[in-house]
Amino acid sequence: MQTNLDETIQFLKQPGEGSLFVISGPSGAGKGTIVQALLPRHSRLTLSISMTTRVPRRGEVEGQHYFFVSKEEFESRIEQGQFLEYALYNGNYYGTPRTFVLNKIAGAEDVILEIEVQGGQQIRKNWERRSVHIFVMPPSRANLLNRLQTRKTESEEAIQARLKRAEEEMGHLPDYDYYVINDQLEEAVQTVSAIIQAERQRIFQSLLKGEKTI
Ligand code: 5GP
Repeated sequence: MQTNLDETIQFLKQPGEGSLFVISGPSGAGKGTIVQALLPRHSRLTLSISMTTRVPRRGEVEGQHYFFVSKEEFESRIEQGQFLEYALYNGNYYGTPRTFVLNKIAGAEDVILEIEVQGGQQIRKNWERRSVHIFVMPPSRANLLNRLQTRKTESEEAIQARLKRAEEEMGHLPDYDYYVINDQLEEAVQTVSAIIQAERQRIFQSLLKGEKTI
């Protein structure tokens, strides 16, 4: 392939569409902490705020941690097709607002979804473009139990439910593109950062050929 150097460089540097990053992994593995550390390190990176029917935990802020809504409202929004994906998790609905994500991606922002595995599967199936799926794991079961207990946000019963769910979620590891073991937080953040950075350098053959979709 022979092509004009400057033209090609100009083309590669223009902001195209953003990428969609899906981060999943057992509750208590530290996804949220990793994501919060990532955001200030990357320009053009946005976290999608989900909607949920779960009751707010102490300290959680409407519109910052979640949009908290009733079951009725969530179900009416499902019917209106307002979610890019949604799932029932331990008796509560969680979903990703469709319009927010589409607007950001169209505006050349990369978007992170911090969601559980069923949601990740829906994205893989329904998102017509490429999405990058990262699975964050705790270093051990004992460590996960310890994190859930010291967080003191859940009852013992809820902790046991989350542990069970964690082991089910581990079964979905093969559906993901990358894994990150969250033993040392800073290392885990750097690993996810490197994945994001690498994805930004990806060459999409179809775009180079002037086609609209990747
Ligand atoms: P938590 O109740 O601990 O905030 O969240 C429980 C689980 O729901 C976590 O694994 C979290 O990543 C996931 N979650 C949060 N928002 C969404 C969402 O919009 N969609 C899906 N499918 N899962 C979500």
